[in-house]
Amino acid sequence: MEVDAKDDLSEKALLEVLHPLPQESPKHFAKPAPPRGAGPRRMITKYFRCCSYVGRRGDGPQAISIGKNCDKFGIVVHELGHVVGFWHEHTRPDREFFVDIFYKNIQPGQDYNFEKSKPDEVDSLGESYDFASIMHYARDTFSRGNFHDTILPKPNSGFRSEIGQRVQLSEGDIRQTKKLYKCGGNQERLSITDE
Ligand SMILES: [Zn+2]
Repeated sequence: MEVDAKDDLSEKALLEVLHPLPQESPKHFAKPAPPRGAGPRRMITKYFRCCSYVGRRGDGPQAISIGKNCDKFGIVVHELGHVVGFWHEHTRPDREFFVDIFYKNIQPGQDYNFEKSKPDEVDSLGESYDFASIMHYARDTFSRGNFHDTILPKPNSGFRSEIGQRVQLSEGDIRQTKKLYKCGGNQERLSITDE
């Protein structure tokens, strides 16, 4: 995979994720092997936003955008999670059993980021709702101001830590990715290390 970054910080963050040093984070994406019959794939970063399409789009290069303030290891892993095929955890069809959404606290025009998926649009491959996922929003994501929570675990959920971590893949993230790409046997398209 080639990296074509528009600035040094973005390139550094991407290379940390794709080529981590052995002593670094114990859970990371390893360098994906190119699809059979394809040449090197190019990942292009742009400057302004942190975003990505979900899943693979066509056969050509695939862009993700790592803007200023997004060029951190965990945020890059989150964006690559979208490329791998993940939507945000809180948009799961069963989310109302696990989190409350406070629409009055969401920035105007950003409600669509909290829309729930329909059951036929996603498949969590039997994995349960994962508060610790690197694909989960934080309690104040798209908040209209300080101390205005937009999303919180339900009081009876039993989850007591902060949501929205951007440190490393959760156990559930790793398990679900392995299921999706049938890793463990023939790791043709993606390999993930978790030792
Ligand atoms: Zn995202």
